[in-house]
Amino acid sequence: AVKELARLGKRIDDHYKKPMDIEWAMEKDQVFIVQARPVTTLNKGGKAEEKVEKEGEEESTAKIIIKGETASRGVYSGRVRLIKDASELNKIQKGDILVTMMTTPDMVPAMQKAGAIVTDEGGMTCHAAIVSREMGIPCIVGTEHATEILKDGQEITVNATHGIVYEGKVEIKVEEKPISSGEHGETIITATDIKVIMDLPDVAARAAQTGADGVGLVRLEIMIANAGIHPAEYIRQDKDEDYKNMLKEGIGKIAKAFLHKPVWVRCSDIRTDEYRNLQGGDKEPKETDPMIGWHAIRRLLDEPRILKAEFQAIKELHDEGLSNVGIMLPFVIRVDEVKAAKKIMREMGLEPCKDIDFGVMIETPAACWIIEDLCREGISFVSFGTNDLTQLTLGIDRNNQRISKLFDEMHPAVLGELAKVIKVCRRHGVKTSICGQAGSRPEMADFLVHQGVDSISANVDAVDEIRMVVARTEKKLLLEKER
Ligand code: PEP
Ligand code: MG
Repeated sequence: AVKELARLGKRIDDHYKKPMDIEWAMEKDQVFIVQARPVTTLNKGGKAEEKVEKEGEEESTAKIIIKGETASRGVYSGRVRLIKDASELNKIQKGDILVTMMTTPDMVPAMQKAGAIVTDEGGMTCHAAIVSREMGIPCIVGTEHATEILKDGQEITVNATHGIVYEGKVEIKVEEKPISSGEHGETIITATDIKVIMDLPDVAARAAQTGADGVGLVRLEIMIANAGIHPAEYIRQDKDEDYKNMLKEGIGKIAKAFLHKPVWVRCSDIRTDEYRNLQGGDKEPKETDPMIGWHAIRRLLDEPRILKAEFQAIKELHDEGLSNVGIMLPFVIRVDEVKAAKKIMREMGLEPCKDIDFGVMIETPAACWIIEDLCREGISFVSFGTNDLTQLTLGIDRNNQRISKLFDEMHPAVLGELAKVIKVCRRHGVKTSICGQAGSRPEMADFLVHQGVDSISANVDAVDEIRMVVARTEKKLLLEKER
């Protein structure tokens, strides 16, 4: 039968003389060809990529310069602008291709001008890679040598969808997927809420187009980076009010775009190494490992004026009718942190959990271990920050390209934590959600729905796919119950 299958395959190949996708079936040793159609996703080298034409020439003449990991899909041709450090960021003109060692959050304003982005280092969960996805700017990370190989001013084509950089201007046909719900001709309604991750107020309308059930994570750091001043610097200059107003304006834009839908804002999570280029950033302490250093809620409780300004911004939005804004605390490891933050919120005139959705991010193994106590303390929801949770559970630096192949949110240790936390939260009536990058992975969405998660947040470009995966899993679960 195997020989027969090979013979039929050869006949089809001889007939069509191109790579074919062949479906076959077998019954009692007899082979049946069910369908044969051309493979449209192969190039001449046999590698999976779309058809590339170099100014009318064949695709094979387009020279590949370097490859990396897709951070944000899309294709773009333009001139390289090499950025060695943040002091050179003003070199970026609109439409340039930003090439740099490692994208950091304080590069966001320059990224917004770029036509595409290529980095040596960084992975899928690097903040700026996430931002490029949100802005819809093609981005390739982890090329290792882009800053050595690409020359300033050189013309290149970035095929970020496939993680390839070509020399010169190469025309690449891509099928753009529209950002809209129900692209399959129907409106899919899921019992699990499908939300979006959203950091840039200026593109809130684009995110709202997804038809998402709300925003599962607003990162304040991006607004802060755009404003150019470090939060600690506002306080040093007694400009708490300016900080509050800047946040209020940004969060307000997002809250309006998602009117009557929950918008969960995370208190600032500023690592000491990532925002050095902001005004006052040079005063940040030097730490051996900022990832596990002085940031998030532990820092905010040491510098409560920053936290107060953030709460105040949200309180004023509530007063103006935008009561859809909720708040969550990042990097929690102790019940005391939640207690202290609640106390400050009450001083601002908002009763946590009653006047406002008040949640905790689960992004440390510690938070998983103390989940019962966190629920007892009283929280409206938890949201899994799987980027940090995976980093800390597996002991894998999320920004280290060399070990990125080991970074996997589907590791049984991480899944065990998620399952346990959901189980405990359900018992206490605390809602569960995910806002880490893994929320955009179909297999993670499937797993979480099985565990009974209440909502899933995905990147803007992944909302449609995740919605479909969730709908399928929910249906399967229902059918299993009926049997
Ligand atoms: C996370 O850790 O999963 C998360 C959402 O936070 P960040 O990526 O900003 O650390
Ligand atoms: Mg985190």
